[in-house]
Amino acid sequence: MTDTNKAGTIRKVAGPLIVADGMRDVQMHDVVRVSEKKLIGEVIELRGDKASIQVYEDTAGIGPGEPVYVTGEPLSVELAPGLIESIYDGIQRPLTEIAKAEGDRISRGVEVPKLDREKKWTFVPVAAVGDSVSAGDVLGTVEETPAVTQKIMVPYGVSGTVEWIFDGDATILEPIARIKDEKGNITELPMMQKWPVRRRRPYQTKKVPREPMVTGQRIIDALFPIAKGGVACVPGPFGSGKTVVQHQLAKWSDSDIIVYIGCGERGNEMTDVLKEFPELLDPRTGLPLMKRTVLIANTSDMPVAAREASIYTGITIAEYFRDMGYKVAIIADSTSRWAEALREMSGRLEEMPGEEGYPAYLSTRLAEFYERAGNVVCLGKDNREGAVTAIGAVSPPGGDTSEPVSQATLRIVKVFWGLSADLAYQRHFPAIDWLKSYSLYLNTLNPYFNDHIDENWSQKIDRIRALLQQESELNEIVSLVGFDSLGEKDRLTLECTRSIREDFLQQNAFREVDRFTPPEKQAEMLDIILGWFDLASAAVKDGASCADATPEDLMMRIAAMKYEPEDTWVSYYQSLRADLQTYFRALAQKGGDE
Ligand code: ADP
Repeated sequence: MTDTNKAGTIRKVAGPLIVADGMRDVQMHDVVRVSEKKLIGEVIELRGDKASIQVYEDTAGIGPGEPVYVTGEPLSVELAPGLIESIYDGIQRPLTEIAKAEGDRISRGVEVPKLDREKKWTFVPVAAVGDSVSAGDVLGTVEETPAVTQKIMVPYGVSGTVEWIFDGDATILEPIARIKDEKGNITELPMMQKWPVRRRRPYQTKKVPREPMVTGQRIIDALFPIAKGGVACVPGPFGSGKTVVQHQLAKWSDSDIIVYIGCGERGNEMTDVLKEFPELLDPRTGLPLMKRTVLIANTSDMPVAAREASIYTGITIAEYFRDMGYKVAIIADSTSRWAEALREMSGRLEEMPGEEGYPAYLSTRLAEFYERAGNVVCLGKDNREGAVTAIGAVSPPGGDTSEPVSQATLRIVKVFWGLSADLAYQRHFPAIDWLKSYSLYLNTLNPYFNDHIDENWSQKIDRIRALLQQESELNEIVSLVGFDSLGEKDRLTLECTRSIREDFLQQNAFREVDRFTPPEKQAEMLDIILGWFDLASAAVKDGASCADATPEDLMMRIAAMKYEPEDTWVSYYQSLRADLQTYFRALAQKGGDE
């Protein structure tokens, strides 16, 4: 049990909000324990000796007059080997361990260590006696899972000379190094660090993200790419494919670590995540995806306040792995539920409401979360670089993104993958609306794609974009005056955009050959479509009909290209290109003969 001293007395209980007096000695964001049940709460407002406390557990049956105990510590997470594969609630209580100890319902005030205290990890020293070290320097490593090796780093605020370093098996609390500072004071370091969740973990510098987070999802990589260290949001109505998109990113993006926050979605959906996620396989290694994942889940019986804690807990864990030089993806599903929790607490605090009852600081809070993403040079002599890429799902009521949470999010994030109910209804998946979505990383990432994937990458993407735009204009004309009014050239354009949509943008997450497309193949698929379109446009210009320029067998081979497995892809691509050339040469010949 944490050391706790009685400080205050409860004066008022309003759902998850408790007001207590006699709290002169506490600080903002300190953790307190409420009543004899020792419910976990956090101080969120201080006025004189009165504290407003957000309680992360059910407050039913708690009443005025009961005691409040202070801990003198801010809400913090424990960071050490043992994080990976964990399933935590919003305040880092390990749900699996609790379930083992307590059954399915968490009893209030339950005390279970956040990280296993008994387990021994093999610590392999990297630093040597006599080394001079400071915050961020690597003392040693621990292979946590076959997919993740943790760097055990000198914690923030400690520096000096290594006096002794351990080699062998230790628990996270046993000392693994002794550091002597300038004054001769010795600090004994265990593997475990603690960090207050509301404070971002320090780094040397933030850098402009210039490398894409490759996702293998064609519409994302090609049209709306996200940088490693970037920020994105996925808004969409129920059933539009938010969960599938997020799972695809978790499985396929080239991230080393995944932190998935299930933030108070409806109870049954959260249970789905808890059931589904541990069953997902990492396609790269064939191991369970959990071997590089930390899952944070707010079950529906937790009070709303815990949603906020889960966001901060998640981002702090993500930063910890970033500090080791990993590329971390943090996926928060859904930030709307967190915003609703903020609204409820703000109402109970009787603050002046902003738009639709959300507090005026809604956008500041959202911004604080997304700002902790980024591409950084970590602390430590080796100047390693790490990144946290943040992806937030937004679930606006009725899919209407004009509401405050979506709007506030859009002002912050740089990538917007807008899911459309119409596309989902037509079974066009991923249902990312190519006319509404955007990525502000396009210009910074173009050089990377041009240098590493295809020198004409950005040029091709610009053409695809322009064609899709043209399609929407042509569709308007068609709806006004009918398809028959279109000339052969415009008909051909519509054939091309149909091919872009159906043969390229549509991607089946559940079909093995289709669920991941490497960028090189994406470039060649675009090459085929645009190559055909150029040949066809020239033919139409020379008098051929749109029907002549869209030969059925070749168009079918274009449509089937996405299902071509990697080992036969190169020859498929080459022969299709050659056959297109041959066909159009013959067509020109025929035209010339007539
Ligand atoms: P949401 O989380 O927005 O409510 P889901 O992610 O559960 O929606 O998606 C709803 C359904 O849409 C899925 O069960 C699946 O059938 C279909 N779907 C979504 N995305 C894809 C995809 N990329 N490929 C194939 N089917 C998809």
